[in-house]
Amino acid sequence: MSVFENHLLERNSKRRKIEQKTKSSALFSFTNCGHFFVRYGICCNCRSTVARHEGLSFDYLVDGLQLSHVAVTVTKKLTTHVTCLNEKKLHLVLDLDHTLLHTIMVSKLSEEEKYLIGEVDSREDLWRFSGDEFLTKLRPFLHEFLKEANEMFTMYVYTKGNRDYAKSVLKMIDPEKVYFGDRVITRDESPHVKTLDLVLADECGVVIVDDTPEVWPDHKSNLLEITKYNYFRDKRVEYTKSYAEEKRDESQKEGSLVNVLKVLKEVYEGFFSRGVDKKLDTDSNDVRLLLHDLCTPQCC
Ligand SMILES: [Mg+2]
Ligand SMILES: [Zn+2]
Repeated sequence: MSVFENHLLERNSKRRKIEQKTKSSALFSFTNCGHFFVRYGICCNCRSTVARHEGLSFDYLVDGLQLSHVAVTVTKKLTTHVTCLNEKKLHLVLDLDHTLLHTIMVSKLSEEEKYLIGEVDSREDLWRFSGDEFLTKLRPFLHEFLKEANEMFTMYVYTKGNRDYAKSVLKMIDPEKVYFGDRVITRDESPHVKTLDLVLADECGVVIVDDTPEVWPDHKSNLLEITKYNYFRDKRVEYTKSYAEEKRDESQKEGSLVNVLKVLKEVYEGFFSRGVDKKLDTDSNDVRLLLHDLCTPQCC
């Protein structure tokens, strides 16, 4: 073998070694990075491209944010413990339609309800939006409910409506973003069933208030079911007369939101009456057990 050939062989073997080392270090970083936090498909730690199915999207909080399943679990636990210990707050997930309000297309108002159009400007519980196409009636006691619940809970909105609809409604009920901030989950992020996977809080400290239990297949034990609020006539259902037609409404003092708030207070007091374990172990505190003890079906 000539000196030149020897040199070539040596050089090739060196190159192979370097290539192998590079490959194995790439493999090393790939297998050792959990891709916990991903922005626009790139891991914030190792810069790898990460597929959507490797985590959960949290676009509703930060554009392009994806968390790995492990990161979601850890963040949920931490969030609940930090808010429990520092702010003494639990988490509350609120549905919009038929829970906090009732929305109808103006064109669907019955003849006897059309008088409402003339009352929109003078009433604070009626709003017209989206090019005047829709009319929303807020449920009695809504403002008081939000104000008091906000003292005990970090609140989310979770709606089957789309983002534009949620934005319009939130302008009416939380214009300064005092109650919900960006914690608003819509059909755009959650097109199928509703799930607490997208709520960044440990399930032991999350209460859901919704009029439709079927949309929460996996989290019924967190659910406080509220009676449906129907203010306008629903032509698909045979009602005698709607509240709007009869010019009356659910009670401001004894309505469903008042009852729900009472249960929420009991859950809250029950949860914190046992103290909060600073070792980040909340097995002894769980809203699901409290709800189970407090609630009979349809109690609100
Ligand atoms: Mg609803
Ligand atoms: Zn990574």
